[in-house]
Amino acid sequence: MIFRLSLLLLLVLPLTAQEPIRGFTPASAKHELELESKAIASIDAARIGQHIKTMSAKPHAAGSAASKEVANYALEQFRKSGLDVRIETFEALLPYPVERVLEMVAPVRHKFRLTEPILKEDPDSSDAHQLPSYNAYSASGEVTAPVIYVNYGVPEDYEYLKKIGVDVRGKIVLARYGKSWRGTKPKVAAENGAVACLIYSDPKDDGYWKGDVYPAGPFRPAQGVQRGSVMDMPLYVGDPLTPGWASEPGGKKLAIKDAQTLMTIPVMPISYGDAKPILEKLEGPVAPDDWRGALPFTYHIGAGPSKVHLRLKLDNGIRPIHNVIATIPGQTADQWVIYGNHHDAWVNGAHDPISGAAVVLETAHVLGALKKTGWKPKRTIVFTLWDAEEFGLVGSTEWVEKHRDELRAKAVLYINSDTNGRGSLGAGGSYSLEQFMEQVARDVKDPESGKSLLHSSMRAVTRTPAADPNAHLILKLEPLGAGSDYVAFFHFAGVPSLNLGFADPSGGGVYHSIYDSYAWYTRFGDKNFVYGKALTEVMSRTILRMAESQVLPFEFGRLASTIRQHVDEIEKLAGQLNSKIDWQTAKAELTRMAELSKLFETQMARLTAVSANGNGALTSANATLARAEQSLQATNGLPDRSWYKNVLSAPGMYTGYGAKTLPGVREAVDRKRWSEANEQAKVLGAVLKKFNNTLEEVTTQFDRIH
Ligand SMILES: [Zn+2]
Repeated sequence: MIFRLSLLLLLVLPLTAQEPIRGFTPASAKHELELESKAIASIDAARIGQHIKTMSAKPHAAGSAASKEVANYALEQFRKSGLDVRIETFEALLPYPVERVLEMVAPVRHKFRLTEPILKEDPDSSDAHQLPSYNAYSASGEVTAPVIYVNYGVPEDYEYLKKIGVDVRGKIVLARYGKSWRGTKPKVAAENGAVACLIYSDPKDDGYWKGDVYPAGPFRPAQGVQRGSVMDMPLYVGDPLTPGWASEPGGKKLAIKDAQTLMTIPVMPISYGDAKPILEKLEGPVAPDDWRGALPFTYHIGAGPSKVHLRLKLDNGIRPIHNVIATIPGQTADQWVIYGNHHDAWVNGAHDPISGAAVVLETAHVLGALKKTGWKPKRTIVFTLWDAEEFGLVGSTEWVEKHRDELRAKAVLYINSDTNGRGSLGAGGSYSLEQFMEQVARDVKDPESGKSLLHSSMRAVTRTPAADPNAHLILKLEPLGAGSDYVAFFHFAGVPSLNLGFADPSGGGVYHSIYDSYAWYTRFGDKNFVYGKALTEVMSRTILRMAESQVLPFEFGRLASTIRQHVDEIEKLAGQLNSKIDWQTAKAELTRMAELSKLFETQMARLTAVSANGNGALTSANATLARAEQSLQATNGLPDRSWYKNVLSAPGMYTGYGAKTLPGVREAVDRKRWSEANEQAKVLGAVLKKFNNTLEEVTTQFDRIH
């Protein structure tokens, strides 16, 4: 589902000596590196390519028979790799379209075909059983109304319309993709009184302005359409009818009218080929500079005279979901390292998600090969392939909701990936894992430049690398929003999480169209699957280090300083609005966290100086350490959305995918709700205090180990 590029952020710091691997003794680090080398030596790019080809051979949207076939294929691969494997089935509201009519009725008549043309260069483009272009969780309905162009359809755009006296009430708005989560556009449109919303891909953001279009180049052709869910994900994700509990056959469900994440107006995605005649005939004010796209005419806002008739019917079907779960049991069976990617696609999905799903299978293969030689990891490793991610992270969310208590007791880490391609490593996640991930990136080479990922990713940042040879790179993890299947783990269950994958910085593609195919991927994506191989290496090292470490490699100094930065940012923001927030407890707790982190570092150094031979006290101290992150949750969740509980980040209420840091306070400041901002700063203070108490308990437990 991820489209927004998340890139590795790097800063240049003074050189420190090459660090050993965090969490290991010198002797166990040596053994660990040998184990990693063995795993990495058996990664096979051709096998990754074969998985991509097989799993993207048919359109396989969640709920379809083909989606189950893909799940069964994965099951078979895990089994061959020697893993214990099962499919866990849920069911959820997964609406398919049954009727789609769009016609322009004034000032000229034009009926839109709403199909993406077959290309002779791409055999998959003629596949039967493609799900037509639509927005899942749109309302069904029929409207005829004049059109207004609303740019990206974010709240600022409506403020501008108000300023110039354009009223969208009773109109159909035409918004372009980009800048916000897809579902935010119809939500804001409905809040402003629009009766329907059309969303199109403007060639400036996603088409010929970027480069040659498919099949000549990688970019979106005129009739290519971005399908996708318009669930109101910032409220909660997963099955709209079962917020907070698992959606199992025969289980409790909300009535459709009570589900809060469904859109209240009809929404339909269209191509820029289809948006063109509508936009071209609009009159009224000329759109401001930054509203104009790359279609060959002057953009006007309307309303009208372009008028369209839209009739849309979705079936509100309840359909099955098949999650594939495979494990390598560890010596400590109740500490789990989990790695997942989704397997469902809107159409064939060679890039989204199969390029990532194939890496899960390959990582399971290479670790399974170690298992076949008699190796048993210290901790249990769990591989997962989720269904129905595209609809709104449904498979992973239902699974987490079902197993929440067990996950809170056992999960040490959840690692997520989604799409993968030629480019730079994107990395987001828990700040307490920043130092750990930095070492993994340091130890993996970019397949093209041959340099460490820490260095090669420099091409992705605007900051000029210092020519100073005494410079050392650090990695900053991006805060987690709501882009992919880590959401329920991180925001709902409080499991430490990472989101990793290579992405093309130019962002070129055919995202969520019928052209996201094996033919496209092998011409314009990761042609020789070398980035698939590189991601398998990143994942293998990440999993093995987490599963084999003597002390779990968390670190809290950067956590404290990152939160401190966010507090400073918001304080400045409030100052600019002539207000002041009482951060007293939060700031005191951040100072305490920095002190505790130093104590923890001393213990880490002491405990990784020598081997601790199956020390039971160490196992239970690690378990407490793994659970520390759970105390970063507010018991009652965030304001207006109790499902989201992590106080450090959340998807923005009106941005969607992108994360807002310290969302409780920040969004209150954004809305100038000062008493709520102060209340949320208190909640933050209390949560940080709870976290520090856990951290103190960790240090007490570690202190007792000799
Ligand atoms: Zn995806």
